Amino acid sequence: MKSPAEDIETLAKLFGLSLDGNLPVVSPIDGRSAGLVVETTHEDATAKIELANSAFLHWRKVPAPRRGELVRLFGQLLREHKEPLAQLVTLECGKPISEGLGEVQEMIDICDFAVGLSRQLYGLTIASERPGHRMMESWHPLGVVGIISAFNFPVAVWAWNATLALVCGDPIVWKPSEKTPLVSLAVQAILAMAIEDFGKEAPEGLSSILIGGADLGQLLADHPAVSLVSATGSTAMGRSVGVRVAQRFGRSLLELGGNNASIVTPSADLDLALRACAFGFMGTAGQRCTSLRRLIVHESLHDDFVTRLRAAAASIRIGDPRDPATLVGPLVDEAAFEAMAATLSTARAAGGKVTGGERIEQEGVYVRPAIIEMPHQSGPALIETFAPILYVFRYAEFEDAIALLNGVPQGLSSSVFTNDMREAEFFTSATGSDCGIANVNIGTSGAEIGGAFGGEKETGGGRESGSDSWRAYMRRQTSTINYSRDLPLAQGVRFEL
Ligand code: NAD
Repeated sequence: MKSPAEDIETLAKLFGLSLDGNLPVVSPIDGRSAGLVVETTHEDATAKIELANSAFLHWRKVPAPRRGELVRLFGQLLREHKEPLAQLVTLECGKPISEGLGEVQEMIDICDFAVGLSRQLYGLTIASERPGHRMMESWHPLGVVGIISAFNFPVAVWAWNATLALVCGDPIVWKPSEKTPLVSLAVQAILAMAIEDFGKEAPEGLSSILIGGADLGQLLADHPAVSLVSATGSTAMGRSVGVRVAQRFGRSLLELGGNNASIVTPSADLDLALRACAFGFMGTAGQRCTSLRRLIVHESLHDDFVTRLRAAAASIRIGDPRDPATLVGPLVDEAAFEAMAATLSTARAAGGKVTGGERIEQEGVYVRPAIIEMPHQSGPALIETFAPILYVFRYAEFEDAIALLNGVPQGLSSSVFTNDMREAEFFTSATGSDCGIANVNIGTSGAEIGGAFGGEKETGGGRESGSDSWRAYMRRQTSTINYSRDLPLAQGVRFEL
């Protein structure tokens, strides 16, 4: 196999990208720098936001189905570039190639969804209490949408936001993770091709990209021309961005950290549950916001089930994510390993029994997934460590399992493995899981684009992707229209001159 740097050079050429700049492109496959990209200065970032704001004045006038045509062209180009783009995802963020391909497929899927949506940005008509009056709701373009994205889904999460924003009539300014700049530039280049094919109706500055670190994310959060800041990343990032945007009365959509749990009940299909939990906690090396972090198993099966899971973790194929046989790739960087090691030692100090978690001797950061039996759900089990660590707990009563599942500050994803209809219904009811995602007989990770994606509590409360998430990218207007010759006031108020 070629070195990651050689592959990156080939792909950069294919997408017409320069590797001559000042910000390093590092592949987690070997932890080495494979070139440099140009960092955006604050001056350029501000100019791009202002240009996007001028673009809004034009783009909002283009009919929505026509805006959908741009996204259709983009989706077509993504189909044509699926393989190389997936390779770049894998090279820059380290996820196995089948997941890289899945990530690009998710972009294609959301394009298709957004194209259909461009003819369905419906408002309501509402019965008025006044004779000869009609009420209606219209949805109008909102303004510039700033997108801050994380390294682990470097392009799909942007696509969830970007495609919806574009059909809703909003220009986009993207601040990708500084750990994945090249694949972001490749996507921006593909969108530029679609914009060129689309023609003059697409104004200059409709889509732009800011390459660099958190300071550029802060600039986006602070700029008054950015109507909505959609930010995906850690809870610490969201806490800062949410406050900054709120201070200027902007809108924010926050997609933050998770601490996801599954419950395995006595009636579960255990083979299915085992596969789902194995993928949930080890897939993407535990670097998904929806990765399984806590497993709550009925006491009657706990020991057997955990033994099987330990065996899977001890034998899972870990290595170069470009190899199709690899199931678990590297951690993104040394800092991720330090965070994992620190969590393991805190868990040990708190009485946790740890198996796995060793570093594998090779270039890059490769680790064996760790399983921890904790005496209580406390300390490190209450925070998200972005690594393949699974805490296991036992339960006796289903209500106690739900209490454990909900007993953390985050509220993104959850699942139950059961064939008992009462448990499944209870789990998804108002008194069941408190998460934005509550699955039955499926793991916590691997969502489809058709549903609204996001979570409660410290996960930030935002919803992206499918269902009616598009509403976040538009402004709602309520109109009352009087087609009578009288002027009755609402609530029977009298004001006769
Ligand atoms: P991160 O918070 O370090 O960075 C995410 C993005 O925010 C990057 O672009 C970064 O430059 C920017 N950023 C960081 N601090 C900022 C600040 N103070 N102001 C403005 N921008 C700032 O996260 P990461 O390590 O790239 O990704 C992992 C995290 O993302 C995990 O917590 C994971 O759960 C979360 N995540 C959540 C979702 C979701 O949909 N809920 C999806 C993917 C990842």
